[in-house]
Formats: sequence, C-alpha cells, structure tokens
Amino acid sequence: MRVEIINTGSELMLGFVLNTHQQWLCRQFSDLGLNVDRQVAIHDDGVSIQQAVKEAVQRAELVITTGGLGPTSDDITRDLVAQLFGLSLKEDPRIIADISEFFARRSRPMPASTRVQAMVPEGALVLWNHHGTAPGLALPTPRGWLVMLPGPPRELRPMFRDQLIPLLSKWFPTPATFACHSLKTTGLGESFVEELIAPALSSLVDQGVSIGYCARIGEVDVRLTARGEDSSELVAEAVIVTRRLLGERVFSETQEDLAAVIVRLLTVNSHTLAIAESCTGGYVANRITNVPGASSVFLAGLVTYSNAAKTDFLGVRPSTLEKHGAVSEATALEMATGVRNRTGATYALSLTGIAGPSGGTAEKPVGTVFVGFASPEGSIVQRFLYQYDRETFKFCASQQALDLLRRGLSQSKVSM
Ligand code: ATP
Ligand code: MG
Repeated sequence: MRVEIINTGSELMLGFVLNTHQQWLCRQFSDLGLNVDRQVAIHDDGVSIQQAVKEAVQRAELVITTGGLGPTSDDITRDLVAQLFGLSLKEDPRIIADISEFFARRSRPMPASTRVQAMVPEGALVLWNHHGTAPGLALPTPRGWLVMLPGPPRELRPMFRDQLIPLLSKWFPTPATFACHSLKTTGLGESFVEELIAPALSSLVDQGVSIGYCARIGEVDVRLTARGEDSSELVAEAVIVTRRLLGERVFSETQEDLAAVIVRLLTVNSHTLAIAESCTGGYVANRITNVPGASSVFLAGLVTYSNAAKTDFLGVRPSTLEKHGAVSEATALEMATGVRNRTGATYALSLTGIAGPSGGTAEKPVGTVFVGFASPEGSIVQRFLYQYDRETFKFCASQQALDLLRRGLSQSKVSM
C-alpha cells in the first residue's frame, strides 16, 4: 500500500515554519507499520495544490494533505479538492453547531468567515476538530482515500490519533505481521548504545529484526521492528535483550518523556519535588510543569541567579560562595539541601554552572555545571561539561538533572 503526504503552506516554503507534520506523520505511519512513500511541501496556490493532489491520488492508496482548511483567504484546500473531483460543497449544520459552541465556550462572537469551514464536499467524511474550528475531511478516491487535515499541530495530532487511526485500520486492515517496540534512553550517545546492544542482537537481526536508532540531544530511542508471522515473538525477544543490556539507561518504553516519567513516579509514591536553578534559569521547572498533573508533586522552583538570591532564598552560606564560588560542588549541595529544607519537599534538585560564552576559567571552563540532588537518604552532587550554545547547554543540564532525579527515585525502591 502506498502512502503520500502533501504539506501545504507558503509559510513552510518561505522558511517561517518548520514542517513538523512531515516528521510527525511519517513517524505515526511507521509505528503503524506503514511506510510513507513520498512527501511534498507546496505553496498555498491553486495550481500547485490541485496538481499535487491529482498526481498523488493516481499513485497512492492513501493521500494526506495538511493545512489550508481554515477561514482565511489563503485556506483553499477544501475548495480546490472539491473542484478537482467535481464535487459540490454543502454546508453541514452539525459543523456550524460545533463551531458556534467553540466560540460560545470562549465567550467570543463567531466571525462570519468561519462558516466556510462547515462546507463539506459531497460524499466526504467529517473528522471532528476538538481543538479548533476547521474539521478534517476524508474523501474516497479510485485507489483509496484522500484525507485533509488542518494545519495547526495541536489540531492535527489529536485528530490523527483519535479519529484517523481507527479509520485507517478499517480502510486498510494491516496484516497482524508487523511488530514494533521503542525504548527511550538517556545518558549514552548513539554509538555507545549501538556498541552495547548490536552484537547481542545480531542473531535476531539475522532472523528479521530491524534495529533503528533515533538520536536527539541527550536521548537515543531504540526502535525494534519485525515483519512476518513470528514478528511479535522476535521483537519481544529483542526487547528483553535490549532492556538487560541498557539497564537503567532506559527511562521509558511508552512515548512518555523524561519529565513525565518523573511526575508519574513522584505521584504514585505521593512524593514532592522542589528545584533551585541558577544557570538553567527555570528550564528544569519548565519541563516539569509541562507535564499535566505536575501541580500535585511540584512544590516550588526558584531561579536564584545572584549570590544574594542563593543566600537569601536558599540559605547558601556566604562563606561557601566566597571560598568555593557560585559554580561549585559545595554551592550546588547547599542549594539542593536549602530548597529541600525550606519547601519541605521529599526531593530537591539544584543546578549551577557556566553557560558561556564568557566566564570560564582553566579549572571551571565554560560549559561546567554542577547538579545537586537531595533526598531523604542523603545528597549528592555531580559535575558535567556541556560545551554548546546557551540553549543547548540549558537543555543538556536539565536532562542530566532530571535523569539524576529519575535514577534517585528508582533506587529508593520506587516502582517504575
Ligand atoms: P487555520 O485554521 O489555523 O488557518 P489551517 O488548516 O488553514 O488552519 P494553515 O493555515 O495551513 O492551516 O496553517 C496554520 C498554522 O499551522 C501555520 O501558520 C503553522 O503555524 C501551522 N502549520 C501548518 N502546517 C504546518 C506544518 N507542516 N508543520 C508545522 N506547523 C504547521
Ligand atoms: Mg489557515
């Protein structure tokens, strides 16, 4: 079965918006055992869109378009597709009701221009948009289906997951011969991960298991897949080997991110967290508070950038700052214990470092960061070096701190 994606949007072609749909959709399809054969991005212009759709539906059983379903004059996909297929458009009263309710809930008047989003080509299925106003549309084609999805990622993603996936399994039942499992790891580069697992997996690879590595800053995902009758057994065996070799480097086998794992671990054990940050400027607290439900475990995050703030808000001793400096093991330790004592949290993290580009010394070069962890069992500080730009430095330091916390939580007999 052939799948093609058409991303529409002049903002993509002008470089104002990164085409994240391309990556996200390809990833969703690969997890479903379907490979995307072709993807194009095009301007919002009638000729390009009609031509791309016309060609794609001739080749592919499933064609996805993204964008151009909204109410503005550059949102033309719906009309162009209807014209191309010779279909008339009819206003759907259910969509009008849905859009009116969307605005009523926000106590805002419904702009007249939004009515255009209720126009449905004859014979199309409506994919409801619970996060915006433009519904998605699915049209049968001679080879299969054409699905039009809205542009904003926060609308497209839930629509794909909640509404399109069930339809796909109905339209194109995948043979039960594809198995896939991903393990998310942190703390090791991708070549180390490969060195650790590839030799032990080689016989399973010979039997048909594929190993994929997806490296991002601070994380490597290992994706194990197989096709064929015994794909589930082969992947299950590969997962056991991988888990054993990577051990505590694996932090998730679902799509949960590191901060979400931590919030879950704290929540199930009714434990709490406080964070004292200097060089990361609140980045760690930001990642924790991105997780729904963080409020039940996260007590406080203090950005103590100056020496005075470290003393006033955390109780770091001036003598410690004077003797060892603000970027030191001793200061990180007092920051972690200080924020833990002052908030009464079960666990605390602290970070102090030199993001650069200036401020480094021979003993503590730019990129040095001390991460402190205080728990009921005691406190530790670890030192790291991340010689990157400031934002990457902050991300790496936050990743290290969250991972130190995660491993600390696991060691104190917290169930994973
Ligand atoms: P709207 O109702 O918001 O107009 P729409 O379905 O008409 O939605 P577009 O106008 O094409 O969609 O895009 C809306 C916004 O969605 C874009 O400005 C952009 O921020 C985001 N977006 C669109 N396409 C992509 C893409 N391929 N990758 C990432 N973001 C995208
Ligand atoms: Mg639009």
